[in-house]
Amino acid sequence: MALVVQKYGGTSVGSVERIKNVARRVAKTYDEGNDVVVIVSAMAGETNRLVALTQEVCEFPSEREYDVVVSTGEQVTIGLLSMCLQSMGYKAKSYLGPQIPVMTDNAFSKARIKSIDDKKVREDLKNGNIIVVAGFQGTDLDGNITTLGRGGSDTSAVAVAAALKADVCEIYTDVDGVYTTDPRIVENASKIERVSYDEMLEMASLGAKILQIRSVEFAKKYGVVIHVRSSFNDNPGTLVMKEDSEMETVLVSGVTYNKDEAKISVLRVPDKPGIASKLFAPLTDANITVDMIIQNVSNEGYTDMTFTVLKSDFKKALKIVEELAGEIGAEKVQGDENIAKVSIVGVGMRSHSGIASKMFTTLAEEGVNIEMISTSEIKVSCVIDSKYTELAVRVLHDAFELGSDPEAE
Ligand code: ADP
Ligand code: ASP
Ligand code: MG
Repeated sequence: MALVVQKYGGTSVGSVERIKNVARRVAKTYDEGNDVVVIVSAMAGETNRLVALTQEVCEFPSEREYDVVVSTGEQVTIGLLSMCLQSMGYKAKSYLGPQIPVMTDNAFSKARIKSIDDKKVREDLKNGNIIVVAGFQGTDLDGNITTLGRGGSDTSAVAVAAALKADVCEIYTDVDGVYTTDPRIVENASKIERVSYDEMLEMASLGAKILQIRSVEFAKKYGVVIHVRSSFNDNPGTLVMKEDSEMETVLVSGVTYNKDEAKISVLRVPDKPGIASKLFAPLTDANITVDMIIQNVSNEGYTDMTFTVLKSDFKKALKIVEELAGEIGAEKVQGDENIAKVSIVGVGMRSHSGIASKMFTTLAEEGVNIEMISTSEIKVSCVIDSKYTELAVRVLHDAFELGSDPEAE
């Protein structure tokens, strides 16, 4: 008998029929003699709808109330799945994050899990229940409802698996594993059988939204092996695990894209010590994460700075920077939401040169202009106009020969 944690994403619980399908899968795992804890997301599209509602009410909603609203989608699916299991004759019990409780910090809309109390869950499991937990949410020390950032149910699942020392942590979604790129964009993308935490971390942080980055951080920290699978078939999926010597060391293992960022440029700022700190400290204080930063070469004592933030933070960040412009002596502040970041990722890049230039040439041949570049030892990222995203992903996937059947191209 094993303790199995299963997480089902939005598409997998997107309709009553699909919730019934999930219930059958959960029941089968239980019937095989396992203890089962299920984490569910809201129905597909529901969280987007809730976010839109908050924005209809006001441009800068209170962060506390935002989480009160956007966390509600999961309350519906845990209840429906539990009822469904009960109607099939199983004992099932649903829990909201704060009822467990899943304790987090108080960074509303991007809270981090601090601890999970396993007492009630263990007790219920002992009594033969299937436990259904709402993903994406928790509570801070003051009892406020918090959410974990978009895609956060993955993190809920891995954290629950770690807290319960589960034997298996399965993330069920609408594709049957982690691919060399988004299989919805590149048809012949190849499924990766096993991927190391570090590579998956990089892919997730660069936009492969198959797993939320924090779920991979958690898995790496607590040694949880994640099995990414489809809720629509029984194919073996992808194992996300510790790097081992048998893992294939290919040069580039994946191509990712991220359309969730926006760019802010601060033009003609006096180039003197302290400017960067004056600019970025208020953003940090407002809990806004800055990703890529570029500072131009100084010209006549002035420079330009460009950086990217999450689109969800864009309006807030732009307002802060516009307010600061006078203080730091900048001439102009510009924002651009029509950008995308395309990246190539691979631990094999550590020991090879020429990968970045191949990427630049490939994009240049398609007439795609590169607006920003950032590199690390295992990735190269380029910011481009978002309208070229799909094209860029396809040509890079081809150029690095990642397709499953190159002859078919
Ligand atoms: P869920 O609602 O189940 O959490 P998500 O939409 O968050 O599902 O994540 C699954 C989606 O991730 C897939 O439908 C796919 O389009 C996308 N995706 C992006 N990059 C990859 C990749 N490298 N491998 C597999 N899927 C990917
Ligand atoms: N429902 C949340 C979202 O759409 C959490 C998740 O699906 O993981 O972001
Ligand atoms: Mg997801």
